Amino acid sequence: MAEPRRTVTFSPPDVSPDDIDAVAEALRSGWITTGPRTKKFERAIAAKSGAARAATFSSATMALECALRALGIGPGDEVITSAYTYTASCSCICHVGATPVLCDVAPGSYEMDYGQLASLVTERTRAVIPVDIAGRMVDYRALFAALEGAARSGAWHPAGRSSLATEAEAAARRPLVLSDGAHSFGAAYDGAPSGSVADLTAFSFHAVKNLTTAEGGALAWRKGLFPDEELYRQLMLLSLHGQTKDALAKTAAGSWEYDIAFPGYKCNMTDLQAALGLSQLQRYDAMVARRHAIVAAYEQGLADLAIEVLAHEGSGSGVEAPFRSSAHLMLTRLVGADEAFRNRFIEQLADRGVAANVHYKPLPLLTAYRNLGFDAAAFPNALAQYRNEVTLPLHTSLSDEDVAYVIEAAHGAYGDAQEAR
Ligand SMILES: *Cc1c(COP(=O)(O)O)cnc(C)c1O
Repeated sequence: MAEPRRTVTFSPPDVSPDDIDAVAEALRSGWITTGPRTKKFERAIAAKSGAARAATFSSATMALECALRALGIGPGDEVITSAYTYTASCSCICHVGATPVLCDVAPGSYEMDYGQLASLVTERTRAVIPVDIAGRMVDYRALFAALEGAARSGAWHPAGRSSLATEAEAAARRPLVLSDGAHSFGAAYDGAPSGSVADLTAFSFHAVKNLTTAEGGALAWRKGLFPDEELYRQLMLLSLHGQTKDALAKTAAGSWEYDIAFPGYKCNMTDLQAALGLSQLQRYDAMVARRHAIVAAYEQGLADLAIEVLAHEGSGSGVEAPFRSSAHLMLTRLVGADEAFRNRFIEQLADRGVAANVHYKPLPLLTAYRNLGFDAAAFPNALAQYRNEVTLPLHTSLSDEDVAYVIEAAHGAYGDAQEAR
């Protein structure tokens, strides 16, 4: 095949001259590790997400892990997550020594089957990790109702190991919900921002995410459930060796002395990362708006193909709450197609210079989770959802011409994939 007319990359970082200046300024400031910019970034994240507070980490994965540890979740406890997600939603459960329990998605959905979820709750269930895939917050009403129902039926009762978790569970009267919000910073559900709906929410600022700090993550938690200062203090100890004073506090003249409360981890965010995050935050609403405009162009341009796209906005009808995603991923499904057709379609797009991806290969198909005993056959809906999924490029460096080109390429690729059948 001839050289394509255009190449469209999947998800390059959007770094502006202002972002570069902000990082350079942090470098020149004399303070490059966790310090004033990190604290300012945490306050800005909490404000933007309607959360009580936010704590930053080196990644969303470490935010999830430290959340589980702060809640005292570990060996003997069960944590439920979706079979249809990235490994980080589940590896954090393994890291703390708890038992991962996987829930299939509902037919034709990227969300857990809430009926099955309720049936998976036992008296050992300490938390549930739903995944806001593509930046669309899950149906939290249905999720909470399923967990409350399981608790009322007697399948569950509060029994957290740490006082933090015990009191929060007792107040919530259901297992705690720790959202994998790696995609959903800036999204809303029923008018409430991601970070204020689940009990706790982990955001990712990895290079491919909507808002980036190169690598980085944050944990936000909703108002009124936890002793905020105590939880924040625990998270900071976990992220920095269990050390009672961070580097900034220790530099104050005469305050050299510190203690190590327990052998903690080392997964703090730096001021260089926070400087980039703060700068990105200033134009974040415009970035999300641009993403939504691209989604709308795709929806229109692909309407004549047998391609179903995940809705990124809904006005709420019947039991469905209104929602607006952060438009992180352009998830599409090739209606009625099998895996071979889907793979040919992706190859045909690649021949046309367009990078596409699949989100996600269900966990039971991966060696790590097969080795833990999960059998793909037990997750038929996740497999069906995965088989014909294709994720198209969606990012703020796409021009209108790029989007038109991807739409044209998708038409050509679809036709050629059909011919090869
Ligand atoms: C990116 C991602 C993560 C992990 O984020 P890191 O910041 O790289 O740890 C977790 N869950 C999902 C669904 C992701 O896409």
